[in-house]
Amino acid sequence: MIPIEEARSYVMDRCAPLAAAATEVADALGLVTAVDVTAKESLPPFANTAMDGFAIRSADLSTIPTRLQIVETIAAGHSPTRALGHGEASRIMTGAPIPLGADAIVMVEKTSVDGDTVSIETQVEPGNHIRPAGDDVVEGDLVFPSGTELSAGHLGLLCSLGLHEIETYPRLRVGVISTGDELVDDGGALAPGQIRDSNRRTLLSLLSGDGFEPVDLGLIADDELAIETALVHGAQQCDAVITSGGVSMGDFDFVKAVLDRVGEMRWMQVAIKPAKPLAFGTIEGTPIFGLPGNPVSSMVSYELFARSGLRSMMGFPQPIRSVIQGVAAHPLARRADGKIHYARVLAKHEEGKTVVYPMSGQGSHMLASMARSNALAVLPDGEGCEAGGRVDVLLLN
Ligand code: AMP
Ligand code: MG
Repeated sequence: MIPIEEARSYVMDRCAPLAAAATEVADALGLVTAVDVTAKESLPPFANTAMDGFAIRSADLSTIPTRLQIVETIAAGHSPTRALGHGEASRIMTGAPIPLGADAIVMVEKTSVDGDTVSIETQVEPGNHIRPAGDDVVEGDLVFPSGTELSAGHLGLLCSLGLHEIETYPRLRVGVISTGDELVDDGGALAPGQIRDSNRRTLLSLLSGDGFEPVDLGLIADDELAIETALVHGAQQCDAVITSGGVSMGDFDFVKAVLDRVGEMRWMQVAIKPAKPLAFGTIEGTPIFGLPGNPVSSMVSYELFARSGLRSMMGFPQPIRSVIQGVAAHPLARRADGKIHYARVLAKHEEGKTVVYPMSGQGSHMLASMARSNALAVLPDGEGCEAGGRVDVLLLN
């Protein structure tokens, strides 16, 4: 067995970021920027009012109330046509440009209109309710650096600044293959010995949840030639491929044999439970993750190896999920066996702490307990963790 760090380094060393490319902002949610973004415009682009009200000259308000002459109404999206003289005001709507001569806004609630005059009932400082040009971003500012994961807010900001394309690492296309003679996916009655394929759906879903583009490459029998064809096609079509099954010690575990023959492969026995076997290789440079077949093992192996490697390929500066500190609500018992155990738990936020509740059913085939959990407790080799003890936690969503 090798330590998880060694297995992960081997994977990460072969998962370099893809070449960056120009991406439309509309397609960039969740992608990572490959360049610093600098503002070519200021935001707001012009001084405007933060309130519906009246643009005035603050010096006119030395006594209040003061009656001013209304000279025009300025709506958002329209330019003022009049400069304000002494004793004049313009009715103005939120977002509209400030007219020349005005130096402050009085909100409509502090005024009363009578015909074409307005009575101002409060004194205001110069600049009151005016949003100056460049208040948010000044032309030439670094808006966000290379290596930023683009959120909804970032994309809105790019639109505000008139940027429609941005240099990012491309969204990774990741193929998923299930292997196993026992697997069916047609929804019909099960023949003796058959089970239904679940790994393809979980892996495709994990991929889309993590911002990758999943590609369903189907269900392949335990047939060496069929597996070879699927892997070679998958490697041509996709940026990376994930298989499940066929990487253990069984007589029909062909994935690692094929990977070894048509690519460069390292078969690893990692000192973790679940998900001990991992076949990781490349076919003409395309990473192939041969995950174990047990449904929980495939998900844990995805979390620990595939997700980190794929995120690295997509340019994430921190591809590996950080552990957080939790507290065990009940004992998390285990036996010393030279492995790190990843126990399914339900993590809850309670009184400022992350409290983890162990799930019953920790077998690597027990998908129901995986589905009901939201985190993995990381239990180093030893006797586990007592109730109330501190434990490292990987929050899975
Ligand atoms: P293997 O790694 O191929 O030896 O498979 C280990 C276990 O996981 C066996 O019990 C398989 O039947 C099961 N298994 C493999 N692939 C899948 C899958 N796609 N969906 C559900 N169970 C699977
Ligand atoms: Mg199998």
